[in-house]
Amino acid sequence: MRIEFAATRSRTAASRFISVYDGDGKYPKNQITCDKLRALPPEQQLPGIIAAIIGNQSWTHPDCDECGIYVDVAITLGEESGDGITVCLPCLKGSAAALAAAQSAMANLLQATGETT
Ligand SMILES: [Zn+2]
Repeated sequence: MRIEFAATRSRTAASRFISVYDGDGKYPKNQITCDKLRALPPEQQLPGIIAAIIGNQSWTHPDCDECGIYVDVAITLGEESGDGITVCLPCLKGSAAALAAAQSAMANLLQATGETT
């Protein structure tokens, strides 16, 4: 399990974007974006500013695999298996509530049938 922060991802967002698009010649707009990112002072390399320059949050913010929304903070579960899933807090709370309800229903069923775990 690992906590993902937009602030952390943003520290490398400009350099990652530049490494992909600088000088590729395919999209002039991306070169303009690279030039803007390169000129950005370190103290202004913040998630909102970088996302505004790039035009989206995909380079700066973690996105929730459940609801698809970019968030400031998320958690990645199961990364040890290589197939981790990143989830925002509202989706994690919803999942926990669904799991608790299922566990309660299972306990009630076992009690009604006289079975124990
Ligand atoms: Zn979510």
